[in-house]
Amino acid sequence: MRWTQQLIPTLREVPQEAEIASHQLLLRAGLIRKLAGGLFTFLPLGRRALRKLEQIVREEMDRAGALEILMPAMHPQELWEQTGRFQVLRDVMFKIKDRQDRNLVLGPTHEEVVTDLIAHEVQSYRQLPINLYQIQTKFRDEIRPRFGLMRAKEFIMKDAYSFDADGAGVERSYQAMYAAYERIFQRCGLRTKAVEADSGAMGGSASHEFMVLADAGEDGLVECDACAYAANLDRAEGVSRGPRVFVDAEQLTAVAPTPSRRTVAEVAAFFQTPPARLIKTLIYVADAQPLAVLVPGNRDVNEIKLQRALQATTLALADDATVARVTGAPAGFAGPVGLPVPIFADEKLRGYRGAIAGANQPDAHRVNVDLERDVRVAAFADLSNALEGDGCPRCGAGALQARRGIEVGHVFKLGTKYSEALGAGYLDAAGQRQTPLMGCYGIGVTRTLQAVIEQSHDANGIVWPIALAPYAVEVLPINVQHGPTMQTAQALTAALEQAGLDVLLDDRDERPGVKFKDADLLGLPIRVNIGEKSLAKGVVEIKLRHSGVLTTAAPEQAPAALQACVQELWRSAAG
Ligand code: ATP
Ligand code: MG
Repeated sequence: MRWTQQLIPTLREVPQEAEIASHQLLLRAGLIRKLAGGLFTFLPLGRRALRKLEQIVREEMDRAGALEILMPAMHPQELWEQTGRFQVLRDVMFKIKDRQDRNLVLGPTHEEVVTDLIAHEVQSYRQLPINLYQIQTKFRDEIRPRFGLMRAKEFIMKDAYSFDADGAGVERSYQAMYAAYERIFQRCGLRTKAVEADSGAMGGSASHEFMVLADAGEDGLVECDACAYAANLDRAEGVSRGPRVFVDAEQLTAVAPTPSRRTVAEVAAFFQTPPARLIKTLIYVADAQPLAVLVPGNRDVNEIKLQRALQATTLALADDATVARVTGAPAGFAGPVGLPVPIFADEKLRGYRGAIAGANQPDAHRVNVDLERDVRVAAFADLSNALEGDGCPRCGAGALQARRGIEVGHVFKLGTKYSEALGAGYLDAAGQRQTPLMGCYGIGVTRTLQAVIEQSHDANGIVWPIALAPYAVEVLPINVQHGPTMQTAQALTAALEQAGLDVLLDDRDERPGVKFKDADLLGLPIRVNIGEKSLAKGVVEIKLRHSGVLTTAAPEQAPAALQACVQELWRSAAG
């Protein structure tokens, strides 16, 4: 393929709107363009890379025994009402009407649709297990679409759904998908980490997320430095190693003036004590009821954990007026002693003595708080985020390390939630009606493509793994006006294409600097520089993008040398 016949609108400037490297590079290398917030067009090179990724996903799903289907993106709203998820995902779903005024939604995911299909098509245990998947466009009205393809309003997902007769079957299906995911990401040249995850709106029992570790990742996670434990922050239980008793002898609690000290940092500095000694009191409203949540001063409330513990449908921090009404004090001085609402305390506060908390009066805090003695706690639960340095809940020996990650895949065990709600059932060998057990398995295909770039780039541009590169080789004639240069370039391109390689010939009449810069930006794995000077020495230059290693070959030997190069890249990618 000739550059002048392709559409590769590279950009010299870093686009203002793009905050993270991979988003900048997708735009600068001419892979995508933004239509509107969270909506993107894939340009030819982006589409080529995406196709390669989709193909890897497809091959591994097929290999694992899943069957490809294609479901509609548009669903009747009633179907979502049957499982109760219309309420849960109300804000996330795009809702539309047809001309008959029928309510439709654009699917953010497909558990409802696939289960409806199974309810109609599967009647006998002989038809189980079955795993159906698709590679299809999803729609989500994200609160904050950002980072390009990472969090878009419209994106491509591979979603698979397994149906099994019993628990052992679910386990097999789950493990098969887990293993397929490891292979998919490995083939994409991605290093991922599987972490234990919250099952959120899906409502299942077990779940793992596949994370690409990256500072730009939106997810927080922890991993143990001694064992294999790793978990999303929404799930992770850290074991606190800090003290819980901050006084030597029994002392009554008392109110102390703390003029204008509101934040944990201000109050801790005022008392010259570590933030962990403070009890942070937050007022929340869950399903219209106010309540108080207590966590150690050095930790944050994890609202996913809180919502799970309360089994609340809605949860939000109380507004200032509610805080004032509940505590009798302005925000910043709430404390647990004598509060007239149910109090939920973080596990890590158990046994807290000699602690400091708000006094429910302006400009005052309570000292010597003994949680057991002074506070009526309705329940203790894990409500706070694990922190770097916490003890590992699995092995007990290691310490947790905090990391950031990009969630590229997610596998869940779902139980019978959807099968029951949508009337999926089958007859077992004894003729008894049973409900199939379900699993669901998603890969954010477009997000994964960007994650590959986030993990594999340098200051000059993308460094494509061979498996996803839009082209394997770029042939770069330095001066297209020089006859022998162009003849060599064209002959080489033809020979490589003949051999089945994807080749891009930069036939632009541009300054060498421009072409070299664009080549680095595009990041194709192998580049061949063809110039007057090297041709005079009887060679062309072969440069590897990932290592920068430069070798030479005689033009006649170049096709064979390049094929060997490509094969070597595939071999090392296979690891
Ligand atoms: P997140 O927590 O990032 O919002 P999620 O947990 O809601 O994602 P799932 O329902 O598990 O997402 O969807 C499966 C996969 O789809 C995710 O692992 C992710 O890779 C991808 N994905 C989810 N939302 C988006 C989005 N807005 N844009 C691009 N990819 C997405
Ligand atoms: Mg998820």
